[in-house]
Amino acid sequence: MTMRIDVLTLFPEMFESPLSHSILKRAQQQGIVEIVLSNIREFAADAYRKVDDKPYGGGPGMVMMCPPVFACAEHVRSLRPQPGRLILLTPQGAPLTQAKAIELSREPRLILVAGRYEGFDERIREGLDAEELSIGDYVLSGGELAAMVVIDAVVRLLDGALGDEDSAANDSFGDGLLEYPHYTRPEEFRGMRVPQILLSGDHGRIAQWRLEQSLQRTQQRRPDLYAAWLARRQATNKTLKKDKNQEIET
Ligand code: SAM
Repeated sequence: MTMRIDVLTLFPEMFESPLSHSILKRAQQQGIVEIVLSNIREFAADAYRKVDDKPYGGGPGMVMMCPPVFACAEHVRSLRPQPGRLILLTPQGAPLTQAKAIELSREPRLILVAGRYEGFDERIREGLDAEELSIGDYVLSGGELAAMVVIDAVVRLLDGALGDEDSAANDSFGDGLLEYPHYTRPEEFRGMRVPQILLSGDHGRIAQWRLEQSLQRTQQRRPDLYAAWLARRQATNKTLKKDKNQEIET
């Protein structure tokens, strides 16, 4: 089934280039995903197409107003029988991880809302029953780039989106580890040689070497991920041991 992604934004033009190249372009052409952009400004009620206003209580900047965002989201939701999972891009949201991207890739429909200015009126999250998602601990000027990151991370996981079905499975984070290093021709470049084992044709030893590299890299570069991987492995080993003991007793 074609996944549907709606994006609600004040700057739909920003999406033109990322959506019209490479994997995202192909996935749309092949009917794997349908991506529809809606301009929140078109849902503003007044003649000036006002979408932002000063914050109650004072302070700098402007806040995205409820009426145009609600009107746009409600219109978009009504276009399909599934209301879709509505996600506000905000720096305060749950972090986007590979596990989250996998979870989102299983949804039939996503509605991504890009903020601007100081962000959304709080009642938008409450009233639209929205989730919040962050692409990292830094502040962007708007949610458009964040929405594009989410779209890219999710769409490449959809069946048929990548040429080689295996390439997403082996990517970093897939099993909680960073991926092993890659090499391609030439065999030697400026005195740097491809590791001999990769030229050996021994697939078992190559797989073992790659796993070791993966573990080493993760331990060195991302000790947090390595510790989580070890904890998961220990928990799995414990369960297996328990199951085996039960089998022997019965
Ligand atoms: N005042 C807000 C705060 O401190 O939480 C930041 C607003 S930011 C300048 C404007 C918009 O950019 C946000 O409404 C959000 O849509 C988007 N944005 C900024 N950083 C983001 C991040 N790390 N992840 C996702 N969206 C982000």
